[in-house]
Amino acid sequence: MKQGKSVVRSQKGGKGVIRSLAHQSTSDRKLHPAERRGGRVSEPTLCERCGAVLVRRSWRRGGDLKPSHTMLAGAAWTTCPACVQVENEEYLGRVTLDGDLVASSAAALRRRIANVAARAEHTQVERRVVSVDRTADGKLVVLTTSQKLAHRIVHELKKAFGGRATYRWSDDGSLEARLGFGVADKQKKRA
Ligand SMILES: [Zn+2]
Repeated sequence: MKQGKSVVRSQKGGKGVIRSLAHQSTSDRKLHPAERRGGRVSEPTLCERCGAVLVRRSWRRGGDLKPSHTMLAGAAWTTCPACVQVENEEYLGRVTLDGDLVASSAAALRRRIANVAARAEHTQVERRVVSVDRTADGKLVVLTTSQKLAHRIVHELKKAFGGRATYRWSDDGSLEARLGFGVADKQKKRA
């Protein structure tokens, strides 16, 4: 198994990420039908970081698959693509929160982001928040492993805190989202 090593580290997300993940799902992770018949299924592949289980070529949360001592003994251990992305800080979505509310309600914003992220990861293990960082000029920047999760975070924050959302696609395919809480954003909303 050379799964972990086949991931190409990209320059801050982008095409490198897409290419390497697509490559993994089509070749490295594909089981030959004979392998499946030959009892390979009873030797599951587990992520050693997050405990996700590879089931029929997609990564799932192992909650309903109770691990037994024997099962773990026979398991193949690897690092799932989402954990590799998080470790390398590769992202496909970036959310920038801007405005006074970022300073006054930072804790509440972070809590909401964490809740959305937990729910997303529960339903689809590959959707993760890579990082939440405060910039020097007082913005909050959230990096996510998927474009969809970036949109989901903006959607939920906007529902709870208001603000004005704008989006654009980067040349590398990542989604750049901005949620503004400033005075200018309010004026634009009314216009
Ligand atoms: Zn993992």
